[in-house]
Amino acid sequence: MVDSLKWAHMPSVRDDVKPLTIVHLFPELLNLYGDGGNVIALTRRLQWRGLPVEVREIGMGDAMDFSQADIVFIGGGADREQMIVKDAMVARKSELSAYVADGGVLLAVCGGYQFLGHSYAMDDVVVEGLGVIDMETVRGEGRLIGNAVIQSDICDAPIVGFENHGGRTTLGSDAKPLGRVLGKTFGNNGEDGFEGVHQGNLIGTYLHGPLLPKNPQVADYLIARAFDRRGDALELVPLDDAVELEANRVMAKRLNVR
Ligand code: GLN
Repeated sequence: MVDSLKWAHMPSVRDDVKPLTIVHLFPELLNLYGDGGNVIALTRRLQWRGLPVEVREIGMGDAMDFSQADIVFIGGGADREQMIVKDAMVARKSELSAYVADGGVLLAVCGGYQFLGHSYAMDDVVVEGLGVIDMETVRGEGRLIGNAVIQSDICDAPIVGFENHGGRTTLGSDAKPLGRVLGKTFGNNGEDGFEGVHQGNLIGTYLHGPLLPKNPQVADYLIARAFDRRGDALELVPLDDAVELEANRVMAKRLNVR
């Protein structure tokens, strides 16, 4: 809502805080169902608090330097886009693994999420993953499609979104899910009741939406983790999220029906 109070009270940018750098990986190919809206949501929630922010888009041919990154975002992509991007992704395996091992904040959605595991098998073709999470994805019969709701321990409100994937992801014993599915939500594989992954400061999920505008608590969780990692003792000023939280509540109620 452009005319909400948040816009009316846009504060001036603080000059005593180092800009938070958001790195958006391969936005030209991995950006399904408006996933780029996640970067906009993070940016706006910083600006609404007067916190400086920079967004760097990394294309397929660009060099990558994660030393300045505070939040990395990888969006979803259909199998076709994943095939196009896979070599460029795996070529960055060591940089991305080092970033995650160093506690780097990362959000990956659907196709981007699938890349975090050991592999994604599409029939005869096996796409190598980044291997930062102990998990595997295999394309199954038919697609898992629908509005989705999960309960996670990272926030009070249920996390709502939309899922559409052919891949079924199974977490290994070293990986912890983001949450448990509610209602008719399929989640990672439609069978084990788990959705996504949450490990250190990394979140992977099948939920489009885009995720963060629909779930402001998840956006603030990532922002808080990013400042924490930098050692900035910053209290995030609460925003007026009444509209977002009411939409979240209505969707969660509507979907949490078996
Ligand atoms: N290509 C993947 C699948 O269908 C991911 C799709 C997506 O990002 N929505 O499983």
